[in-house]
Amino acid sequence: MNIEKAKQVQAAVCAAAKKLASSNLVAGTWGNVSARLDDDHMVVTPSGMPYETLKPEDMVIVNMHDLSYEGKLKPTVETPMHARILLERPEINAVIHTHSTYALVMAAAHKPIPPICDDQVQILGGEVRVARYTLPGTGEMAKAVLEALEGRMGALIANHGAVACGRNLDEAFTAATVLEKAAQVYVGTRAVGGGVELCKEDIAFMYDFFMNKYGQR
Ligand SMILES: [Zn+2]
Repeated sequence: MNIEKAKQVQAAVCAAAKKLASSNLVAGTWGNVSARLDDDHMVVTPSGMPYETLKPEDMVIVNMHDLSYEGKLKPTVETPMHARILLERPEINAVIHTHSTYALVMAAAHKPIPPICDDQVQILGGEVRVARYTLPGTGEMAKAVLEALEGRMGALIANHGAVACGRNLDEAFTAATVLEKAAQVYVGTRAVGGGVELCKEDIAFMYDFFMNKYGQR
């Protein structure tokens, strides 16, 4: 393992965790963050630590294949889900898991978020599906979430929360924000007769634009 790279990724995950903790994406309990370190390892936030005191070296380096980890601190209980996503979706390098309020409204109702917002389909890839209910922290949850994430950068987790992914931590953070906003907008549209879904062609065009053409390249 490249120690310099490990330190960089630990610092980036720590910064993202603090940003998450001060965002509106966490109410009461905060979420957890991971980023790919190399083909075999990821860096994840530790379990049950007050986020104010988090230091880069507290971010846990975990072997994605067997979930063994280095150091004294235990990784988040959601580690199996993070590892599974990073292992099976090579284009994803960062994962943010939250229990944000409107995402949880939809997840608790087992209702997907229909594709009704431009930024939602651009960044998340379309309708946000709901991963079936499973016990948190289990391999079953990891499997259910991976299925709901197929072709998407975000998913709801039944009765639990949401997961958002990106090619880097900034993108994952944006995805988490857009997912929560889309859930809120959808709930709001129900008061005015319901949202109007975007068509498949436009969704495919916008997602392709974001993934392949957008930005400074
Ligand atoms: Zn959770």
